[in-house]
Amino acid sequence: MSTIVSIATAPGIGGIGIIRMSGEDTFKIVNKLFKPINNQNIEEIKGYRIKYGYIVENDEIVDEVLVSYFKAPKSYTKENMCEINTHGGNVIMRKILELCLKNGAELAEPGEFTKRAFLNGRIDLTQAESVIDIINAKSEKEAKSGIKQLEGQLSKEIKEIKQLILDVLVNIEVSIDYPEYDTPEVQENEISNMLEKVGERLLNLENSFNNGKIIKDGIKTAIIGKPNAGKSSLLNCILNEDRAIVTDFAGTTRDTIEEFININGIPLKLIDTAGIRDSNDEVEKIGINKSIKEANDADLIIAIFDASKPLSREDLEILKLIKDKKVIILLNKTDLPQKIDQNDEKLRDITKNIIKISALNKKGIEDLYTKISEMFNLNEINLNDDILITNIRHKKIISNALENVNKAKDALKINMPIDIITIYIKDILEDLGQITGEVVSEDIINEIFSKFCLGK
Ligand code: GDP
Repeated sequence: MSTIVSIATAPGIGGIGIIRMSGEDTFKIVNKLFKPINNQNIEEIKGYRIKYGYIVENDEIVDEVLVSYFKAPKSYTKENMCEINTHGGNVIMRKILELCLKNGAELAEPGEFTKRAFLNGRIDLTQAESVIDIINAKSEKEAKSGIKQLEGQLSKEIKEIKQLILDVLVNIEVSIDYPEYDTPEVQENEISNMLEKVGERLLNLENSFNNGKIIKDGIKTAIIGKPNAGKSSLLNCILNEDRAIVTDFAGTTRDTIEEFININGIPLKLIDTAGIRDSNDEVEKIGINKSIKEANDADLIIAIFDASKPLSREDLEILKLIKDKKVIILLNKTDLPQKIDQNDEKLRDITKNIIKISALNKKGIEDLYTKISEMFNLNEINLNDDILITNIRHKKIISNALENVNKAKDALKINMPIDIITIYIKDILEDLGQITGEVVSEDIINEIFSKFCLGK
């Protein structure tokens, strides 16, 4: 394979920058541009060593650097690798990158280092995919579930499930060659037991995606209410706290705004809606339709009402909209004389989750957080032991595999010949191989790694 190079640190000015190189010619190329203070032959330099010196071009010093050496197969990619620690300026790093290219390296594609780690068999596909999850993590929980996947927790589970299947397949093969080995009844029993166990474990994995999705994408939360109910005040209350605001996607003022926040370790993806109201303004209408759509798509709706005024027609419209949804009702402006009662039947028909707040005085916000924690009890997920599917690709494959388990079960029930049942069983194996990457097309591999950043 060619020798690849890339700037691995984020663009911009920083204390140091790292240029990463991997491939057969790595040491040859580094040797051409790096003049260490203590010169040694590459044979004398051990892996995991750092050497101090200068990057030089035409006898002129380009930068003072540290170069770390990783010798195949003990490196990230299992190939010879070097990392050049430079001063963290764009100009210097580009210059050194150019020198590497001039001396025979090729520019790495996004994720190519990790792709090589996968192709060279150091990690499987689920582990490679976890690398991108760790880098993109928006909360500690998400990072931790990524680390668990990198450690191979999911791979191990898949491997164990595959082994259950393989054990039975081997027996079937033996029985075909030596019919006296097992009676068909024994075989059918064995297959049926295996399908039961495999089905159960796959179902557990499939179900874990409910929480996995929340950990990865956040709970999609829509704040809705009529104009002046206090939506933006509430949003400010939440966002101005010390809780980490991780991402900030700003749309136009009439569009929706999305923000990630952590509430007691639960990631919420807040969607600020443009407000729900009767409107004659065309542009505004689009905003409202969008609000209704957002409310429909949301995992959680926080409906806010101005409790200093009786329920209006608009409020009743909103109540209609949120019926049968996962919802928290906030009675706002409780610092003023109250016109809406917490026990109002119209509200309690919708939900018992009714909380009094004053967005102006920041009162009752903690109660809201407690309620959210209760409703989405992620603390119950034990990230150390529970295997969590967070990746939609894995989820789809597991659902497929489950379908094949059911097909095999049905075939068994109607006494289909064993070799037909075997076809379904082999399909399950093939599905599982797609997760770990043994049987996966190049297109899918390329698609997965194209989402990586440069230098990883
Ligand atoms: P939005 O249109 O739903 O986003 O409502 P705003 O957050 O802009 O609030 C509308 C008005 O109500 C503003 O003048 C706020 O200062 C006021 N307001 C919001 N929350 C409270 C509250 O808890 N108590 C009182 N007294 N006024 C509030």
